[in-house]
Amino acid sequence: MQMRLIDFHTHQSPQSNRLYNLPNLDPVSSPFSIGIHPWYLNENWQQQLETIESHLKLPQAFALGEIGFDGIKGPSESIQQAAFQAQADLAKTHELPIILHCVKGLHLLQVYLKKNPDTAPIIWHGWNLKPAIAASLVNYPVYFSFGKQLLYADSNAQNWLKACPMEKIFFETDDSAVAIEEIYQQASVILGRSLEELGALTASNWKTISKKHWYE
Ligand SMILES: [Zn+2]
Repeated sequence: MQMRLIDFHTHQSPQSNRLYNLPNLDPVSSPFSIGIHPWYLNENWQQQLETIESHLKLPQAFALGEIGFDGIKGPSESIQQAAFQAQADLAKTHELPIILHCVKGLHLLQVYLKKNPDTAPIIWHGWNLKPAIAASLVNYPVYFSFGKQLLYADSNAQNWLKACPMEKIFFETDDSAVAIEEIYQQASVILGRSLEELGALTASNWKTISKKHWYE
């Protein structure tokens, strides 16, 4: 049997072993994540929730995302917080994990986590911040998805991957053109584990945070 290496967050294209992040609110027929990215929050965001919620009921909807906080680009903090809370509530209701976009928004995530101890699991995608910041989040239902930053020597991503609890690890390609096999391959070298082991690890990690499985 060939091991499937799941890509837990990508913008590349829809495919059965990928969690494809929809570029808009139109669903596709393979696994997707859907949500309003902080960059694209506009005055209509509340009306868009209804569309999102109807798509979340589709069998191929696997996560809310990417949603989150951005201190560089996007509307005011209060709008970002309200939109995140509303979408995170949908994630909770539909028992789906959240794919988190967080750029200069750690303080907003911390506020959310304190207010919502029973939050849906959160996968912080494209992790590349200092390991100490990651360590401050491990006691929350926060998970880490590693992408192309793993390919750079001594990156924060590499350093945190070495220390990250194994049950918190996912891999992704995000908006890069890199193949997901290359990311797993690099992680395999860093962790000294085979590709098969890592494929099984992330598959089993997904099963601990979601009842929805797209392969067996
Ligand atoms: Zn992304």
